[in-house]
Amino acid sequence: MLFPGAFDPLNPDHFVKLRDLQAVLAHLPDPLIHTDATGEVLWHNPSASTVFVGMKIGGNALTLLDLPEVQAAFQRVVSDEAQCEEGLQQEVNIKWGGLKRRYLNLRLVCFRDKRAEAPQVLWSVHDMTAQRQLDKTRTDFVAAASHELRTPLASLMGFVETLQGPAKDDEDAREQFLGIMAEQARRMSRLIDDLLSLSKIEMEEGESPSTVVQLQEVVFPVTDSLALTARERGIRFAFEGDWSTEVVGDKDQLGQVFSNLVENAIKYGHPDSTITLKSRPYPDDPSLHSIAVCDQSPGIAPKHLSRLTERFYRVDKARSRQIGGTGLGLAIVKHILYRHGGRLLISSEQDVGSTFDVLLPHPLNEAPAAL
Ligand code: ADP
Repeated sequence: MLFPGAFDPLNPDHFVKLRDLQAVLAHLPDPLIHTDATGEVLWHNPSASTVFVGMKIGGNALTLLDLPEVQAAFQRVVSDEAQCEEGLQQEVNIKWGGLKRRYLNLRLVCFRDKRAEAPQVLWSVHDMTAQRQLDKTRTDFVAAASHELRTPLASLMGFVETLQGPAKDDEDAREQFLGIMAEQARRMSRLIDDLLSLSKIEMEEGESPSTVVQLQEVVFPVTDSLALTARERGIRFAFEGDWSTEVVGDKDQLGQVFSNLVENAIKYGHPDSTITLKSRPYPDDPSLHSIAVCDQSPGIAPKHLSRLTERFYRVDKARSRQIGGTGLGLAIVKHILYRHGGRLLISSEQDVGSTFDVLLPHPLNEAPAAL
């Protein structure tokens, strides 16, 4: 077992420390392996045998991890005397496992303790799988966002070229094209606003709001500001329940939640229909209050429901774009509610409509007595 120079076998205190150290290393979540210079395992912690099935004391780690890059790093670390003296490390990244593939970062350090003549090697392994997935999510998001921006940009550039060239002196075409260009520019601007909102919300995600707001302070300004847009489609609002109820939340962010949901209900609802907003205690958890936005619409097929809050996920991409959607509205809602310790439940019935149910925490100790 590795123990830096100062271990004294005649000192009983040191035995206690050695046992403590072994217990600590045994609980290390990352694999740790100690081998000799041939790769024979002298000790390993339980995590090592979980990740590298078949790892055992007396077995050979090099045979088990039979990958050229591991063999090469191991040879480099044991063959270079200077490296061993200075305790330098070799680092190698590997893919490991079949179905449940992991990305592992392996560090090999050569050392000699007082008793051992031959060099020994400490293998420390760090599981990078979660980090890799996060990196991939970020890269995919940047690619998707760039693609979303590129489409209106390409359209803008196309019209600029047409106006500079073939349609230079065509008064009617100019009017029409400028109108389209203005719409494309607005679309890019909406997209950038949503991207900025999302990144701001993500940055604040760790800090839960502590302010208390009345639902009517949040929801009524939203329905007031969207009343004209709704009326243009012949859509009415109906309210049910108690809107003086208080919840814990950031007024502006909750305003954004209901603005996105009510806007969607207007966009995707039937013309000449009713959007009903219901405020009621959430029956399954007395610490939460439910505010539901229910539309009358063709509904959403069940296979889409669990994916709606993914960034840029749309049931009908062309239709969403045509009516000015960015594909980020529900992702923003999800992240804001996450920060609030709340949740979004989505249900839909074909040819009836959809319900987007926002669950928010009551102020502490103020859950309605009836529950
Ligand atoms: P978008 O900007 O496209 O509306 P959202 O993130 O707000 O983006 O919504 C994602 C997708 O969810 C929409 O493109 C649409 O397909 C679907 N959706 C959202 N709200 C509703 C609704 N009330 N009725 C039907 N479909 C909806």
